[in-house]
Amino acid sequence: MASRILSDELLRAIRDRAAAHDKANDFFDDDLAELKAAGYLAALVPESMGGPGLGLQDLVHEQARLAGAAPATALGVNMHHVWTGVARFLHDRGDSSMDWLLREALAGEVFAFGYSEAGNDLVLLGSRTQARPDGEGGYTFHGRKIFTSNSPGWTRLGTMGLDEEAGVIVHAFITRDGGGVEILDDWDTIGMRASQSRTTVLDGAHAPADRVMRKVAPGPTLDPYVLGIFTSFELLTASVYAGIADRALELAVETVRTRMSMKTGKAYAQAPDIRWRIASAALAQDGVWPQFDQAAAAIDAGQNLGAAWFRQTAGIKVRATETARYVVDEAIRSSGGSTYFNRSELGRLYRDVLAGIFHPSDDESAHATVAQSLLGPIE
Ligand SMILES: Cc1cc2nc3c(=O)[nH]c(=O)nc-3n(C[C@H](O)[C@H](O)[C@H](O)COP(=O)(O)OP(=O)(O)OC[C@H]3O[C@@H](n4cnc5c(N)ncnc54)[C@H](O)[C@@H]3O)c2cc1C
Repeated sequence: MASRILSDELLRAIRDRAAAHDKANDFFDDDLAELKAAGYLAALVPESMGGPGLGLQDLVHEQARLAGAAPATALGVNMHHVWTGVARFLHDRGDSSMDWLLREALAGEVFAFGYSEAGNDLVLLGSRTQARPDGEGGYTFHGRKIFTSNSPGWTRLGTMGLDEEAGVIVHAFITRDGGGVEILDDWDTIGMRASQSRTTVLDGAHAPADRVMRKVAPGPTLDPYVLGIFTSFELLTASVYAGIADRALELAVETVRTRMSMKTGKAYAQAPDIRWRIASAALAQDGVWPQFDQAAAAIDAGQNLGAAWFRQTAGIKVRATETARYVVDEAIRSSGGSTYFNRSELGRLYRDVLAGIFHPSDDESAHATVAQSLLGPIE
C-alpha cells in the first residue's frame, strides 16, 4: 500500500510557481493538473476500489509536504480531500453511501466544500441557505456561500441548506455543469491568494435524490456523516498549517547559517539568542506531529470515540494553527528584515499562516467544545 504520492520533483515544480500565483492572485490550475495526473486527488481511494489506498495519517503528512511547497495550493486541494476523507471514513465503517464520491475522485472529478456562510457561527449545525424539496427526493439550493476554496477548479460542490418546512439540514452535492451557481470574482486577500476562495451564489443549484447525503436536525449530532466532516476537516486543514510551520523552520535554519553578524563576525546561527529562538520554535512544533499521528491513526483503525472526537480534533486544529503562527513568527524574527519584502518566501508564509485562525474550529468554538466536554452545556 502506498504511503506517499508526491515526488520531490513535483513539489519543487509547485514551489517554483507559488510566488507567481500569489503575486498575480490567480488560481493554481497548473498545480491542480499535475496533482491530478500524479493520482493525488484519489489518494484516499482504497486499493479495493482501484486507488492508491493512502490512509488519513499518510495524507496529513502529504498535505503538509504540499503546503511546505505552496500553502494556497494545499489549502485548495484540501477541500477536495476533506470530501474523500468523509467518504473513506464512512467506507471504513461499513457505510458505502459515499463510495460514488471515491469512484468520481478516481475518475478525475474535483470536489470543493461550500459550507461557510456570512454570519453563520453555528457552522455545521445551522444554515442560512434554503434547501427546497424538488418533490422527487432531491433539493435545490438558494443562498450564498463564502470562502469557497478551489472555486475555479471544482466540478462537484458539497453543500448544505435548511429545509425550513421539514426542519432539517440537508447535506448534498451539486455539479458545476448543473447550473444554478454563480461564482463571484471577489477574492483579493492578504494571504492564501491562489486558493481563490471566492463567494458562491446558489440560485436553484440542484442535487438529485441520490446526491442528497443526509438530512439532520439542526444542532449537535453524532451522525457519522457530520462526524466524518468534522474529523476529516479539522485534521486535514490543520496539516496545511503544520506544513507551513515545518517549511518556515527549514527556511530559518538555512537563513541564519548565511546571515552574518558584523558584531561577532560569525553567522547568526552562532548567536545564542537566535539559537534560542529557533530551538523554541522547534520545541513547539515537535509537539504537533505526534498529535496528528495519534488521532489520524485511530481514525484509520476505525476507532469510534463518539463525541470525544470533537474535543480531540478541534484541539489539534487550534494547537497546530496557533503553533504555526508562533513558528513562522520566530522564523521571521531570526531571519531579519529581508523577510518583509514581498519577494520573500517567509514573508508569504507569514501572510498565509494567518488564515489558519479563521477556519473551523476557531479558537472560540474549540474552547466552547472543550468547556462543554468538561462542564456540560451552558444552562
Ligand atoms: C483562506 C480561507 C479559505 C477558506 N476556505 C473555505 C472553504 O473552502 N469552504 C468553506 O466552507 N469555508 C472556507 N473558509 C471559511 C472559513 O472557514 C470561515 O467561515 C470564514 O473565514 C469566515 O469567518 P468569520 O465568520 O470569522 O468571518 P466574519 O468576518 O465574521 O464574517 C464573514 C463575512 O460575513 C459578514 N457577516 C458577518 N455576520 C453577518 C450577518 N449576521 N449577516 C450578514 N453578514 C454577516 C461579514 O461582514 C463578513 O463579510 C475559508 C477561510 C479562509 C480564510
